[in-house]
Amino acid sequence: MIPAVMPTYLRADLAFERGEGAYLFATDGRRYLDFASGIAVTALGHAHPHLVKALTDQAAKLWHTANLFRIPGQERLAERLVANSFADAVFFTNSGGEAVECGLKMLRKYHDDFGDPNRYRVITCGGAFHGRTLATISAAGQEKHLKGFAPRVEGFDQVAFGNLNELRAAITAETAAILVEPVQGEGGMRAASIDYLRGLRAVADEYGLLLFFDEVQSGMGRTGRLFAHEWAGIEPDVVATAKGIGGGFPMGACLAKEKVAAALTAGSHGSTFGGNPLAMAVGNAVLDVILADGFFDRVDRIGRLLRDRLEEVARRHPKVIEEVRGAGLMLGLKCGVPNTEMVAELRERGLLSVGAGDNVVRLLPPLIIEESHVAEAVDIVDQTCRRWQEAA
Ligand SMILES: *Cc1c(COP(=O)(O)O)cnc(C)c1O
Repeated sequence: MIPAVMPTYLRADLAFERGEGAYLFATDGRRYLDFASGIAVTALGHAHPHLVKALTDQAAKLWHTANLFRIPGQERLAERLVANSFADAVFFTNSGGEAVECGLKMLRKYHDDFGDPNRYRVITCGGAFHGRTLATISAAGQEKHLKGFAPRVEGFDQVAFGNLNELRAAITAETAAILVEPVQGEGGMRAASIDYLRGLRAVADEYGLLLFFDEVQSGMGRTGRLFAHEWAGIEPDVVATAKGIGGGFPMGACLAKEKVAAALTAGSHGSTFGGNPLAMAVGNAVLDVILADGFFDRVDRIGRLLRDRLEEVARRHPKVIEEVRGAGLMLGLKCGVPNTEMVAELRERGLLSVGAGDNVVRLLPPLIIEESHVAEAVDIVDQTCRRWQEAA
């Protein structure tokens, strides 16, 4: 018989009853160092006092009014995101997939408004992940996510991640935009080079295309900047973000330059729940913490430390860890052993991680980790590798 919860996930037989900072406590009393963060979501760790207070204060006042009325917390959060990014305006969603959908609709509408409705195709990259809606699985083009869900949403052309020549060759009179993750997450923690990101902007400018970054995973401080593309010193036209933005409260956002944002007028797009007072209270509280002086520099520093230490482990056990990849606190271990087994072995020793494509294990710690957490995690990775190396 089918379980009451649809079996869409291969779940570990483990449940948690509480969390505190970088640690989770299981129902059997065991403690785990959480370098999964609910897949890059609990960016400030568990039960952060400032977030708990923001949510409970708001919960006692007002939960929901719908976007038929002004929502002060939404205006405040949008203004703060605009003041701290390339963007001029923000649309709030409940998830990453919806934020990408919003961006895709905006791209089409933008060209349609300029009398170019045939310009609707979007160039995307191999290894991409953009969500689980029909449009976002079509955009990412991964066979394993598309199988059985035909027909695809039309209008996506795929090129190799990192290859500007292939990208140029794929551009036609129907191309509207380029959609890229600055750091591919689900696909295997591959970080785009600074040159590639700059090249994307240059190609978009040359052909009059819009540049859309999917920063659902890489945004909100994960790489040591508010958005990963900032490392390249360029400005995109549209960015989708989510995961860390609510610190565990479900929310997302689509940010855009004025010329693109103006395409979505009253009635052309919407969301019942998007930007509701509860989500906005938490979103503003997350920004209070991550926009504080020195926060991103700390993420950058601790990310480099974790990476250096992991690279030492990889050098000692090259058959087990072939490479350390990613950026900031979005790191991947390219494994020489099955990544699913590595995730399970790390979990047995008290460290939570997440699998990714290309046989990679993702380490996505909360952005608040200290050197002691790095030492503890690296020690567990090292022990795990040693057991494997000995067994070989
Ligand atoms: C997780 C993710 C999404 C989808 O977000 P959901 O909240 O699961 O809809 C989209 N793009 C990227 C890059 C992601 O990592």
